[in-house]
Amino acid sequence: MSLLSAIQIELTGLFDLLFPPVCPLCRQELAERSPRALCPTCLGQLHPLPSPRCPRCALPFATEGGVDHLCETCLRQPPAFTRVVALGVYEGLLRESVHRFKFQNRINLDRPLARLLAENLEQANPPCRPDLILPVPLHSQRLRQRGYNQSLLLAEQLEKCWRIPVLPRLLVRTRPTPPQQGLSVAVRQQNLRGAFTLATPLQGETVLLIDDVMTTGATVRECAQVLQSGGAGEVVVAVIGRALRHR
Ligand SMILES: [Zn+2]
Ligand SMILES: [Zn+2]
Repeated sequence: MSLLSAIQIELTGLFDLLFPPVCPLCRQELAERSPRALCPTCLGQLHPLPSPRCPRCALPFATEGGVDHLCETCLRQPPAFTRVVALGVYEGLLRESVHRFKFQNRINLDRPLARLLAENLEQANPPCRPDLILPVPLHSQRLRQRGYNQSLLLAEQLEKCWRIPVLPRLLVRTRPTPPQQGLSVAVRQQNLRGAFTLATPLQGETVLLIDDVMTTGATVRECAQVLQSGGAGEVVVAVIGRALRHR
């Protein structure tokens, strides 16, 4: 062992003693400085998407048992994305984490959430190997209010994990859209029509589209449509939380 690495190990030990690694969600002390960085208790509270679910939009069905099948929305209007990978069901601790990350400036949640998302994408069947990563853009007005785009923060962490480029200015939000909460799927879709545009055309690349939460899926549907019309190959969607019902 070189003197330098011995000093490094000593310094890391001292750093851990002074600033013990804690879980970013519950502040419980962690046994080691793990890149996943959530404690086992918090990890155990993230509920993976149950089956059966829609293989296209990942919507879980209320019935127990049975095989995965397309949901009514995807049958009527097949989306331009091929599948959705989610960290888990948008409820409980996962919902709370997204709220803190998105609305309470807890931007240091980007790394653990993105790491877990990367694991899910690698373990998906088939594994997702995109050519580029695009975050769902915020309108400049919203970006000024919030100060950061949570989907871009996640995309940048995935870029670090995989060394796959993020192109944050390729997909552009051309106008602000009113808050979508409580609106029907049809109204949401109408509000979003023409709200996104592609800065330059694509050439068959596999695109990973990142958003924080998928509820009705109106936003990612509209973005994927724009990407497909603009020459993208496969579009895969990755989100932190997937809501259980189309509302
Ligand atoms: Zn924890
Ligand atoms: Zn579906």
